[in-house]
Amino acid sequence: MWGRDSKVMTEALPRIVIVGAGFGGLNVAQALAKAPVQITVIDRKNHHTFQPLLYQVATAGLSPGEIAAPIRSILSSHRNVEVLMNEVAGFDLERRIVKTSENEIPYDYLIVAAGARHSYFGHEEWETLAPGLKTIEDALEIRRRVLLAFELAERQTAAGEGAPPLNFVVVGGGPTGVELAGTLAEISRYALAHDFRSIDPARTHIVLLEGGPRVLPAYAEDLSRSAEEQLKHLGVEVRTSTMVTKVEAGAVDIGDSRLTATVVLWAAGVAASPLGRQLGANVDRAGRVPVLPDLSLPGHPEVFVIGDLAAAKDEKGKMLPGVAPVAIQQGRYVAKVIREELKSPHRTRPDFHYWDKGSIATIGRAAAVAEFGKIHISGFVAWLSWLFVHILFLIGFQNRLLVFIQWAWSYVTYERGARLITGSTYLPGWIAPAPKSPTDQPVPQEIHVGASK
Ligand SMILES: Cc1cc2nc3c(=O)[nH]c(=O)nc-3n(C[C@H](O)[C@H](O)[C@H](O)COP(=O)(O)OP(=O)(O)OC[C@H]3O[C@@H](n4cnc5c(N)ncnc54)[C@H](O)[C@@H]3O)c2cc1C
Repeated sequence: MWGRDSKVMTEALPRIVIVGAGFGGLNVAQALAKAPVQITVIDRKNHHTFQPLLYQVATAGLSPGEIAAPIRSILSSHRNVEVLMNEVAGFDLERRIVKTSENEIPYDYLIVAAGARHSYFGHEEWETLAPGLKTIEDALEIRRRVLLAFELAERQTAAGEGAPPLNFVVVGGGPTGVELAGTLAEISRYALAHDFRSIDPARTHIVLLEGGPRVLPAYAEDLSRSAEEQLKHLGVEVRTSTMVTKVEAGAVDIGDSRLTATVVLWAAGVAASPLGRQLGANVDRAGRVPVLPDLSLPGHPEVFVIGDLAAAKDEKGKMLPGVAPVAIQQGRYVAKVIREELKSPHRTRPDFHYWDKGSIATIGRAAAVAEFGKIHISGFVAWLSWLFVHILFLIGFQNRLLVFIQWAWSYVTYERGARLITGSTYLPGWIAPAPKSPTDQPVPQEIHVGASK
């Protein structure tokens, strides 16, 4: 099984297996590429996704290929790295084996960087009604629903049935909810405003629901206030201290009151990959694996857990946030630990230190908030910093150039170039009006178009 390509893999070299080619896993692989090791990267997808720009795909600003790249091509220049597209099912830590459905892959060092998914807090049945945003598939599903809602409303209005209300409800006021709500408000008021003849997209009602007392709770209070003001300026209705108690097709319940919702989007919770439990660890409430200060699994110095899957703390005992820079720095740190250890096996490992360079959350065109230590910025300058950082860290020069051109173009024209509806034409909760002609069959939309995913 091992050493399939003898030109690349050599039996004698230490074997490093990396599970997950997100920000954490990719950085381990790249930082170890010149070391005397053989590396296997396993990911269930064939592509790395630049998750911070997923909302741009979900709101038709960018196409999937502009924010994702094949893992194989990202790592192709590193001769000691092989890439396997496969789903990891579990581990045998005693035998030092990674298990997939077809085979067992041995390791000397294991890095588990399988990330996180959205959490519905025990209401998994809400997922099909209120998609979250984590993968390219999620983004395309959100884009489909949003664009479809406008098309169905136009069709119904053109047929003389009266304009149905278009209510988009975003659940969760963290960075993803804020950028989704802000951008949806923007596209309905600008990009789509002149393209319809029967409906007025600018009258779309966007509601952002947040369970806590303020949006962007991880940011300083003044920035939360500023974000809320910027959202309101864009026409978003922000409701804080508002807990969603039920999601149904076409509606969201908040305690005793009910909001009709043409499209519901979920940005409220995160749960770490179930692979964490497969490591035999006592995971925390979010499913994260507690790690030692060197990011290793207690009792297994040869196993590291990094990125969103790890419950790692800083020097003050504060949990590190689930953001890309943490995963990137952890990936590079683990690569360094392994490199040093291979040179001098009895060396004491230094602790991992996270260098927090600041946080930026975008809200819309020229609207953002940024926190760099004590420096807090809002509006256009914050947005420019966001733009710069995201172009700089996007994988691949071609993507950087394409995204830059796309953004410059849409900044000037307000155009959203990727407005394609693909796949099913089913929108949960949308009931087509009863036909007027006696020859037409009354067919509710849900029945004749099939599943949503
Ligand atoms: C919509 C959104 C917006 C975000 N915006 C920002 C932002 O603006 N700034 C910021 O810093 N952070 C942002 N983040 C957070 C950031 O993307 C994550 O913190 C980061 O991706 C974590 O990296 P990771 O390597 O731990 O996991 P990921 O990048 O999620 O990678 C995990 C990889 O593991 C693979 N995988 C999972 N399970 C298996 C399995 N069983 N077998 C094989 N492969 C598996 C997945 O396919 C994936 O490729 C955002 C996240 C989302 C979802």
